[in-house]
Amino acid sequence: MIYSPQKYRLEDKPMEPFIDEGEILDYLQSNQNPSPARVREVIAKALDKHRLSLEETAVLVNTNDPVLIDEIKNGARALKEKVYGKRIVLFAPLYIGNLCTNNCAYCGFRTANEQQKRTTLNHTEIEEQVKALEDAGHKRLILVFGEHPKYSPGFIADSVRTVYKVKHLNGEIRRVNINAAPFDIEGFKIVKDAGIGTYQVFQETYHHETYLSVHLGGKKRDFNWRLTALDRAQEAGIDDVGIGALLGLYDWRFEVLGLIRHVNHFEAVYNVGPHTISFPRIKTASGYQIDNRYQVSDADFTKLVAILRLAVPYTGLILTAREPAKVRDEVLQFGVSQIDGGTNIEMKGYTGKQDKQNLNAEQFEINDNRSLEEVMDELIGSEYIPSFCTACYRLKRTGEHFMEFSVPGFIKRFCQPNAMLTLAEYLEDYANPDIKAKGYELIHKNLKDYPDDAFKSKLVERLQKIKNGERDLYF
Ligand code: SAM
Ligand code: SF4
Repeated sequence: MIYSPQKYRLEDKPMEPFIDEGEILDYLQSNQNPSPARVREVIAKALDKHRLSLEETAVLVNTNDPVLIDEIKNGARALKEKVYGKRIVLFAPLYIGNLCTNNCAYCGFRTANEQQKRTTLNHTEIEEQVKALEDAGHKRLILVFGEHPKYSPGFIADSVRTVYKVKHLNGEIRRVNINAAPFDIEGFKIVKDAGIGTYQVFQETYHHETYLSVHLGGKKRDFNWRLTALDRAQEAGIDDVGIGALLGLYDWRFEVLGLIRHVNHFEAVYNVGPHTISFPRIKTASGYQIDNRYQVSDADFTKLVAILRLAVPYTGLILTAREPAKVRDEVLQFGVSQIDGGTNIEMKGYTGKQDKQNLNAEQFEINDNRSLEEVMDELIGSEYIPSFCTACYRLKRTGEHFMEFSVPGFIKRFCQPNAMLTLAEYLEDYANPDIKAKGYELIHKNLKDYPDDAFKSKLVERLQKIKNGERDLYF
C-alpha cells in the first residue's frame, strides 16, 4: 500500500488505521522455521546498514535455533559498535499527576483502582522534584501524566515551562520529553510551544482484540485515536515522536512487527521515522497480576531488542528501570541508546525517603532501584560514556539518530565529544572522588582516538573550560 501525506490530512477526515493484522499474521506464518541461510542473509543485510522489511523482521522473530540467535545478537552488537560507539544517554522520569479517567487493566492509575493515592504536583512541588533531580546530576527528564481533563495541553505546557525555569546551583534541565495522553492537533500545538523534546505515546498492543480486552473504559479504549496520535502530533509540528508497545499483553512477535509497521508508516508519510521506540515489559501493578500467557522471558526479550536494533538501525531504543540490572546490562550491548537512571516513580518520590515501593502510590513495580550515581559508576566501569547531551535538540539538528547512523563522522564530531563534555560537567558537579577519577580516566582514554588536529584541541580546550567552571558547552 502506498501512503501519501494528502490522503492523511487530518483536518479533512479522520485518519485511517494503517495496521493490517492479516498482513502481520501472514508474514509471521509464512516465515516460520526460516533456513539458516535466510537468517544469515537478513543479518548481513542489516550489517550492510540497510533497514529491514516486515518480512525480513518476521524471519528474525521466527528464529529459534540458539546458534542463529547468537548470530542475531552478535550482529546487533557489531552494528551498535560500528555505528554508535559506547555512548549511553541518561534521563529520568518525573510523574506529574496520576489522576486518570481511563481504565487500563494493567495500570495502577486506572480509574477503577480505589487503592491508588491520587496526587497532582503543583508548581512548587514540581520545582522541589526538579531541584532534587538536578542535584543528582540530571539534565533530561520525561514528564509523565495520567489522562484527565485536568491535564489539558495548557496544564502540560505550564508544567514543562516550570521545569525549564528551575536552576539549582549548576543544575538545569535542558530537555523535557513528554509521555501523556494523545491530543487533537490544536492540543499538540500548545504543548509544542512550551519547547518539548520527544512526545511519546505507546500503542501498548497493536492487536485490536487484545487492545479492547485490556482498555476497559475511557478515551484510550479507542484504538484508532491512539494509533493515529502521533500523526496528529506531526500535523501540529511535533516531528520528534516516540512509539512503544507494552510487552506481555499479546504475542511479542506480533508486537515487534506492529512497531516496525508503525515505523514504516512514519517513513512513508513524513519521510522521517519515529525518534525512539520503547518496549517496556509489563510489571505487577496495584490490583493487577501479569497474564502468564504472553509474558516475555528474558531470553526472548534480549533477542527482540537485538532484532529491533537490526531492523531499524537508526531509531533510538529506550530501556527503563522496569528491567533488572542484569537484563539491562546485556541489552545495552545490542544497541539500546537511552536508559533512565536513579529512577523513582512514586509521586513526589525524588524528595521523600523510600525503602520499599508502595504500589498504591505509583504506576507499577520497577526492578532497578540504583541511584544515578550507582548507574554512572557501573556504566563508566564498563567503559560506556554516559551522556546528558541535548545539543541536537537545542541546535535544531532534528533527525539526530538518522544522522548518527548515516552521516560519516557524525558520532565522532558531535555525539561522542558532547557525551564527554556532559560527563565532565557531571564529574565536576556531582561525582564522588572515586567516580570522578574513573570518569576522567575514561575521557582521556577516548580522547586518544582523536587525531591531534584542530578539532581535538577545541575539545580539550572545552573540557578544560568545564574544569574552570564554565558549563553547557557543546558541538
Ligand atoms: N497515561 C498516559 C498513557 O497511558 O499514554 C501516559 C503514560 S503511562 C503513565 C506510561 C506507560 O506506562 C504506558 O503507556 C504503559 O505502556 C506503561 N505501563 C502502564 N502500566 C504498566 C505496567 N503495569 N507495567 C509496565 N508498564 C506499564
Ligand atoms: Fe491512565 Fe495511562 Fe495508566 Fe491507562 S496507562 S490507566 S491511561 S495512566
